[in-house]
Amino acid sequence: MTYFDAHTHVFAESQRLRRHTIATTDPTFAAIYGDPAATVATATDLIETLDRDGFTGAVTAGFAFTRQPELDAQNQALLRAAHDYRGRIVPLATINPSLSSWRTDAEHLLASGARGFGELRPGNQGWDPLGAAAHELCELAAAFGAALLWHCSEPVGHAYPGKHGGIGPAELVQLALDHPSTTMIAAHAGAGASFYLQMPEVAAAIEALYWDTAAVSLLYDEKTVSRLVDLAGPKHVLFGSDYPLLSPRRNVQRVARGLPDPAVREAVCGGNAVSLFLQNIPPEFPA
Ligand SMILES: [Zn+2]
Repeated sequence: MTYFDAHTHVFAESQRLRRHTIATTDPTFAAIYGDPAATVATATDLIETLDRDGFTGAVTAGFAFTRQPELDAQNQALLRAAHDYRGRIVPLATINPSLSSWRTDAEHLLASGARGFGELRPGNQGWDPLGAAAHELCELAAAFGAALLWHCSEPVGHAYPGKHGGIGPAELVQLALDHPSTTMIAAHAGAGASFYLQMPEVAAAIEALYWDTAAVSLLYDEKTVSRLVDLAGPKHVLFGSDYPLLSPRRNVQRVARGLPDPAVREAVCGGNAVSLFLQNIPPEFPA
């Protein structure tokens, strides 16, 4: 059984030390990490957890900072970790498309080993997920074979820190329809967007859209992942924990319990992420 966690978050060590200062300059960071009880993990913590929990590796993002200095510190740490733990940490870099330099940064990050961007929070950073920069980002990702991980949240239900500011289910489907060649991952089971996969023309047009299970145990009932597999197909669902918010081991066990077919369990709990990120590396990516 291959366990690979498709949705984790780490910070630079310097950012962990400055978390309270950063919280005074970034309201979304403050909402999620202002509480001292919220864990701010580094790549070293992540690797220790993966080793303990029996995971091969993880797709790792940072946080959607608004300001350039934090973006730079975050990306440097992430790319260094990906280099140090090659094949175990797959880095999704952080960009802010509302800054004028975003495109240059994005190209540089891809040339430096980033495998995509995320977890994208357009509303928190001040850009429109259906605006010109978003379309340019989708085209850039498609050209490089890079992935876009979107924070998805429901327009209904209970609130939680950091819920809003990502993308909603209807916007996500629209963007995926507009960019069928762009690999996208809808976090948190896509916040209900999978319902629209029951429309045959939609399902056929958004084959490059994947769905992760990050934090579903906090949001949905026990059957959500098996329903998602029914709607999206077993090859399109990626186990993700949302580490350090949740334990990879406990959450992969929960997901595995709901998937009785061993082949489906293997695909969702790690096989799909491995084939997406480790077996089909586009030639543009640096060796
Ligand atoms: Zn999220």
